[in-house]
Amino acid sequence: MTDVTRMTATAIAAAIASGETSAVDVARAHLDRIAAVDDRVHAFLHVDTEGALAAAGKVDAARAAGEPLGPLAGVPVAVKDVVTTKGVPSTAGSKILEGWKPPYDATIVSRMKDAGLVILGKTNMDEFAMGSSTEWSAYGPTFNPWDLTRIPGGSGGGSSAALAAYEAPLAIGTDTGGSIRQPGAVTGTVGAKPTYGGTSRYGLIAFSSSLDTPGPCARSVEDAALLHAVIAGHDPRDSTSIPAAVPDVVGAARLGATGDLSGVRLGVVREFAGEGAEPGVMAVFRESLEALVKLGAEVVEVSCPHFQYALPAYYLIAPSECSSNLARFDGVRYGLRVGDDGNRALEEVMSVTREAGFGPEVKRRIMIGTYALSSGYYDAYYGQAQKVRTLISRDFAAAFERVDVLVSPTTPFVAFELGSRTADPYQMYLADLFTIPSNLYGGPAISVPAGLSAGLPVGLQVMAPTLADDRMYRVAAALETAVPPLTPPAL
Ligand code: GLN
Repeated sequence: MTDVTRMTATAIAAAIASGETSAVDVARAHLDRIAAVDDRVHAFLHVDTEGALAAAGKVDAARAAGEPLGPLAGVPVAVKDVVTTKGVPSTAGSKILEGWKPPYDATIVSRMKDAGLVILGKTNMDEFAMGSSTEWSAYGPTFNPWDLTRIPGGSGGGSSAALAAYEAPLAIGTDTGGSIRQPGAVTGTVGAKPTYGGTSRYGLIAFSSSLDTPGPCARSVEDAALLHAVIAGHDPRDSTSIPAAVPDVVGAARLGATGDLSGVRLGVVREFAGEGAEPGVMAVFRESLEALVKLGAEVVEVSCPHFQYALPAYYLIAPSECSSNLARFDGVRYGLRVGDDGNRALEEVMSVTREAGFGPEVKRRIMIGTYALSSGYYDAYYGQAQKVRTLISRDFAAAFERVDVLVSPTTPFVAFELGSRTADPYQMYLADLFTIPSNLYGGPAISVPAGLSAGLPVGLQVMAPTLADDRMYRVAAALETAVPPLTPPAL
């Protein structure tokens, strides 16, 4: 049999179901691959060898007993470290949570366990998911398997790098402003942000609660859809979870894979054209449009005049919510405590702990957010940003009256060199120029590999109306049939 670490999740599940291989052998092959390459990639913060082999053993036992297996039973998955896993370290990439083992699983984790997925471990990320390069991890950066001198995107760079390095066939990410799609784009993998509220936030370590959305990462669109179907659906433990049926994302991905897009209208946002994506990225984008037109789609230019304010609005809303969410890390309830020598007042211990436990980008966000929410400034900053958010949602609504989906490059530039943007926060924030609008609106969006620019991957972003996640899978799967697979150089 071919090397299982190169196979899709779909193929792995079929091989386990038919008895061609066992879930334990599949888990071992991936653990071996991690042992062989992760010292160079650093996609993982924690590898759960024992847990993975035990979970795989259960799937093999269930199969031997003739029990029915789910469509992804026995398939390994890597989980971003911002998602709680019972008894398994969950640090969110921060020193302040070093050594913390959550007493419970996130809803998406329990759903994966119930479906027989095998959790390999926890992946590296920018601290508390704030960043676009994984360089803000307190545990050192992740390296892009396409070029180890370059960033793998962020904040979920570990999840996407694990896929590109064949350390895992599936991964979980979270997307607040682009952290699933942008790492997907720059590592040549697929990353999907479901409709906000379509996947449960219960058990995510919160960054910006009105934006945080967990979702699937994979090397194929169908694999992403299969994982989406496992984790999505209403959860009473999340107050913003949508009590609606999950769209048939797997069926849509399979429909798209037939390569027929007749009658599908793609909207190209006029205002994005002037936003300065690299020429190489724009060239791949234009080729993708041509390929989609050949498959029967129609391209329509649409205007979304408020998208130009998305980035500044996001950088008020997200830090504001983070300044409130991160108040819980006070050295008393979780993780790190510094300076508790019996003489210090509680407030001082909290302050010393937060000073030592948070990194520079997190501190910057807490300060911006606290300022934006402070009395006298609230209306001018946070209130104004919320109004912009409404205008952006209206732009989406108007566009979706004319087209089925919007398409754009996922990112303005390909993977950049490590260290080249950390000194200038604004340069780092620009990585999410095209991904942030759909977060503010709440609709689903996916990044699918579209081609190479100077030897590095470029992603196409497909954005759909809220609860029409199936549409983006269809278009993404169609593009996949038209683009040769992107294979990173051997590690
Ligand atoms: N890069 C964006 C930020 O720094 C998005 C992060 C995310 O989606 N978690 O906030």
